[in-house]
Amino acid sequence: MTDVRATGRVALVTGGSRGIGLATALRLQRDGYRVAVTWRTEPPQDLKGPDGTEPIRAVRCDVTSAEDIENLFAEVEGELGSVEVLVCCAGITADTLLLRMTDERWQAVIDTNLTATFRTAKRALSKMIRARHGRIVLVSSVVALLGSPGQTNYAASKAALIGFARSLTRELGARDITVNVVAPGLVATDMIAALGSDQVSALESRVPLGRAAAPGEVAAAIAFLASDEASYVTGAVISVDGGLGMGH
Ligand code: NAP
Repeated sequence: MTDVRATGRVALVTGGSRGIGLATALRLQRDGYRVAVTWRTEPPQDLKGPDGTEPIRAVRCDVTSAEDIENLFAEVEGELGSVEVLVCCAGITADTLLLRMTDERWQAVIDTNLTATFRTAKRALSKMIRARHGRIVLVSSVVALLGSPGQTNYAASKAALIGFARSLTRELGARDITVNVVAPGLVATDMIAALGSDQVSALESRVPLGRAAAPGEVAAAIAFLASDEASYVTGAVISVDGGLGMGH
């Protein structure tokens, strides 16, 4: 991986207070980026990082609020500089079968997983276009392409991210801005802990690698897409799912 320490590029990770987002922020910090994360309910701890690295900035932001997103960018740009790497990782589930799906459950998932990504990417792009450089990585899911019972809202929001990313790729290619999607399978975070151990074991048994991923294994793919080594990768959907989706 390229050592970006000398350039001190700025990376922003939404949903970086826990799980995959926090693992990604810590990985980018280790790689030498100046990193900011968002938190909504509780600020993350231990963001100092190894010796010689700059602490991660944690900014309060509910990504469903357009005002919070504007304040977030004002703060990050003021303290660290323009965002060159944007990782949209904030996400929620609100599972239930379609016949029981209320408008509120549907809308909450679409607002957090999809509309917030539109707003965040749009805000980051204004500076990336001027700089003629940028990296955007969206966190989707294996269920975007496989489907999953009880997750029509979640799967729809995650599938929409792929169409969004590919359209943006076509808009921005000439400006050296790449837009890619990472599609994790089962990852050991609070999100799957909520399912209970029986359901997690049943899901793990369907994964060819036979286990859930550690958050750092997804962070590694995101760090690659953010790096100079990925300069010719755009519009891609990178599965990090232990073989669960078999390339889908
Ligand atoms: P997680 O541990 O539940 O963390 C979710 C993160 O999103 C938290 O940082 C949370 O912030 C943040 N978030 C949620 N709603 C937000 C809002 N309105 N404003 C700001 N932040 C908000 O989940 P995870 O497993 O790391 O998931 C991260 C991403 O990966 C999600 O997009 C998820 O859909 C995707 N994914 C996860 C899995 C998996 O198996 N875990 C699989 C495929 C895809 P707070 O701490 O403040 O609530």
